[in-house]
Amino acid sequence: MKESLLIDKYGRELNYLRLSVTDRCNFRCYYCMPEEGIDFASRKDLMTFDEMLQLSTIFCNLGISKIRITGGEPFVRNGIMPFLSKLSNVEGLQEITVTSNGTLSNKYRAELLDMGIRKINISLDSLDRHRFHHITRRDSFNEVYAGIFQLLDAGFDVKLNCVVANNKNIQDIIPFIELTKNYSLSVRFLEEMPFNGSDGSQVLSDWDYKKIYEYIGQHYTDINRLISDANSTSVNYKISGYKGSFGIIPSFSRTFCGTCNRIRLSATGELRTCLYGPPVANLRNLLRKGASIVDVEHEILAAVAQRERDGYAAEALSNSSVHTSMSALGG
Ligand code: SAM
Ligand code: SF4
Repeated sequence: MKESLLIDKYGRELNYLRLSVTDRCNFRCYYCMPEEGIDFASRKDLMTFDEMLQLSTIFCNLGISKIRITGGEPFVRNGIMPFLSKLSNVEGLQEITVTSNGTLSNKYRAELLDMGIRKINISLDSLDRHRFHHITRRDSFNEVYAGIFQLLDAGFDVKLNCVVANNKNIQDIIPFIELTKNYSLSVRFLEEMPFNGSDGSQVLSDWDYKKIYEYIGQHYTDINRLISDANSTSVNYKISGYKGSFGIIPSFSRTFCGTCNRIRLSATGELRTCLYGPPVANLRNLLRKGASIVDVEHEILAAVAQRERDGYAAEALSNSSVHTSMSALGG
């Protein structure tokens, strides 16, 4: 793999970009955005696909080799498929992956596979239709659930993301693990983070990674820890004899910051070198002011060089009490 020029002051090489293609979504998950009154970016403030392509090309030239397409819900944006097709031809880009709520992704499965996109993360917080409805504020469980098996049948590598919270979905944890008995998929349990578009007064779930693991440990005696990638955010496990695996992501406890290789670009061009920190540049503005490729590269390199050690240090730089939604950050 080509060495990345994106190196922070602690010597960490960044090669993974999470690109949010929209802040809009057809769901209203309680942990991500309020039911109503959401302050979506105006259309003219969203980057165009041409701008995203230009910036992706610059990032790949600097050493990004993997791009995850996220949002909002990526597939609600018109023109997403032609964009992905162009993106898949960007030099240096070795892998494109997608995170979706699974309502629309399924209908594009053949096209995605044709482009070489075969890894998809689907958010699914419950295996019960009513709890799913309560969590997402949409009654779409049946289509999302059926779509997961169609994706698996088509040959996708599917990971399910499940945000764990008291009074919401604790009773789903073991059924999710049981799903890995016969299906070769990975279920990842996430700690809830404070990125929900609220004023910060909301009480977060106290289900941290230790509590999730202990709970699972009460139900199984044969949990095997798997060897994970060096930059993995999840600690991964498998129950003996099960086809799939499960993982726990300490997204709020932030135990993985030391090996984090990610950088984020929001749908409005805000660059973040840490999810918990403030934006460190706006690349859309630079492009619209007519900056040259070299200028944009300098801005990115300078921002990366200032990257903080971990999510706690980055958070200390943020003086806002408004908890930006993950859909705007590029989750
Ligand atoms: N709409 C797509 C989806 O839901 O998969 C992609 C965007 S969504 C913001 C990306 C991921 O962020 C999802 O897996 C979602 O569960 C997670 N997420 C959003 N808000 C979160 C929060 N406050 N705490 C933890 N995870 C969150
Ligand atoms: Fe939409 Fe994803 Fe946020 Fe849920 S988590 S509201 S599906 S962007």
